[in-house]
Amino acid sequence: MKPHSHSVQIRNVSKRYGSLEVLRQVSLDVEANTVTCILGPSGSGKSTLLRAINHLISIDSGVIRVSDEVIGYEQRDNRLFELSDRDLCRQRSHIGMVFQSFNLFPHLTVLENVTCGLITVRRAPKADAIATAQHFLDRVGLAHKAGAYPAQLSGGQQQRVAIARALAMQPRLILFDEPTSALDPELVGEVLTVIRELAESSDTTMIVVTHEIGFAREVADQIVFMDEGRVAVAGSVAEVFGSDSPRIRAFLDGNL
Ligand code: ADP
Ligand code: MG
Repeated sequence: MKPHSHSVQIRNVSKRYGSLEVLRQVSLDVEANTVTCILGPSGSGKSTLLRAINHLISIDSGVIRVSDEVIGYEQRDNRLFELSDRDLCRQRSHIGMVFQSFNLFPHLTVLENVTCGLITVRRAPKADAIATAQHFLDRVGLAHKAGAYPAQLSGGQQQRVAIARALAMQPRLILFDEPTSALDPELVGEVLTVIRELAESSDTTMIVVTHEIGFAREVADQIVFMDEGRVAVAGSVAEVFGSDSPRIRAFLDGNL
């Protein structure tokens, strides 16, 4: 049976580092099986929000629900509740994340990078893991590189392996944090193409932090513009790109 994709509900989430308020009362809804692109200037809290959703960091207050299951903290009666480690691990295993810096294991082959989560986390038999890995490597156009090491690949190819690795776990929610920002300009297109195909064909919920405005405009069901730790606007492509907010206009014109 195909697992259902996850919806995400974020309510009044705040996070500070010392005196710096990085997330300020952030609220956001992401429907299952949709693509949300998050735009915004550097330092506006985009990565922090993704990390909070995946529980790589804790939040100070607010609620994050992934398919109605709370991850992170939930505020009830002014007290903070947190999931057990066991529940957290289970939920996180359904959330994929792709980082700016690929984060492949350099000492493992491409195939081993993709199979290792399946074998260690999912406890898949090795032959099944290899078959799954080959399927997803084929999907990102890299079946022929299965035996190569990351250092033998271009940045674009490495990022496509990282995407195959995330997909192989069959996540119900996949988070991309500026997946093309570390790439040379001529390699950006091949990675965006893979993500675009995924957005069109898969039934996984996707949240993509990106500076690729043209890409966001094409694939997003929802655009979120973050500014100074807040969600400044969230809406359809037309709503956000048509906004007359001076901050958004400055950002879209490349002046922020
Ligand atoms: P963005 O991804 O939008 O560029 P981030 O979420 O990475 O922004 O960061 C938002 C702000 O929080 C920045 O000012 C950043 O310096 C600060 N910040 C992020 N992580 C930490 C941390 N672990 N400790 C202290 N400050 C942090
Ligand atoms: Mg960031």
